[in-house]
Amino acid sequence: MKKAIIIGITGQDGAYLAKLLLAKEYHVIGVTRSAKKHNFKRLEFLGIDNSIEFVEMPQISFNQICDILKKYNPDEIYNLSAQSSVGASFNIPIETVSYNILSVINWLEAIYTTKPEAKFYQASSSEMFGNVSEQVLPLKESNIFCPASPYGVSKASAHWITINYRESKKVYTTCGILFNHESCLRGDSYIVKKALNTALKIKMGLSKTPLILGDLSVRRDWGYAPSYVEAMWLMMQQEVAADFIICSGNCISLKELIMLIFTKLDLSFDKDVQIDPCLFRPLELETIYGDNSKSKDELGWSYNLTTEELIDQLILDETAFIEWELKK
Ligand code: NAP
Repeated sequence: MKKAIIIGITGQDGAYLAKLLLAKEYHVIGVTRSAKKHNFKRLEFLGIDNSIEFVEMPQISFNQICDILKKYNPDEIYNLSAQSSVGASFNIPIETVSYNILSVINWLEAIYTTKPEAKFYQASSSEMFGNVSEQVLPLKESNIFCPASPYGVSKASAHWITINYRESKKVYTTCGILFNHESCLRGDSYIVKKALNTALKIKMGLSKTPLILGDLSVRRDWGYAPSYVEAMWLMMQQEVAADFIICSGNCISLKELIMLIFTKLDLSFDKDVQIDPCLFRPLELETIYGDNSKSKDELGWSYNLTTEELIDQLILDETAFIEWELKK
């Protein structure tokens, strides 16, 4: 039985990855800052909270990480833990940058000194690219980084230190450069989850609160989170470690995406959507989308959802999630 540690298991990707690895009969160990039950909502929704062994690490501790590695002797370590909000990173830059970099280097150094044959996955982000000119789109693994937020800076730095352990210390490390991926398990403040949840609650007669959003002109590459965690696992099964862009390759503005949701639910965009300038970010990426040909060719990752199909799936999933929460 293979053993995997997932750091950040209580988040969206951690929950879906844990489900995938359990289905592959891994022993899954989840590292969390707080092993209190209220933090396990996503794992409960997927029905896997009782199948995971949890380890609480309230603060980054090199010694505790070494102890965890010695105790569990993992084959694979997935680092999904981060202050993951771009918007919040402008308000809490010190927390974002220090946690998102120091957590990674502590794990890498502990792996190198304690369990150098273990494989390490780092959750890198399309936000590392920053604002790019239209000519370089779609983005490939070889494009340079020019991050435009404290979050992007933290992820770029964590990305390079992860590569550095691969090149200088020969640890199997791999970075997944993931573009936005969504699901009903996304944090409540994230735009697509917020839009789906608010629109569905209006539709179901559970709420009259309108959807309040920031800048709708941004254009992004959105995908489906459960499919993206499959790519993470594939990246850890290769002979030679490398870095991969994981994206849909589709690009649509936030306004078009929200209108699509409202049209599908037969709701009025003009009546139920309001713009609040306070939600605009100090610096925003305008248009960004990626090229997933390397991950498809080299990993055999298959992803073919169109944006319409993605929205249909997300509506189904969010409906199930709201109904589950109502029954709790
Ligand atoms: P998420 O839902 O926000 O989960 C991240 C987890 O990190 C949380 O559940 C939390 O677990 C832990 N964490 C540690 N320090 C934190 C802090 N200061 N604030 C908040 N949480 C903190 O993230 P996700 O969407 O699953 O994404 C997984 C990883 O991929 C993250 O590193 C993210 O930056 C990256 N990423 C995500 C996307 C996306 O579209 N979702 C795109 C590119 C990259 P505990 O409370 O249990 O410790």
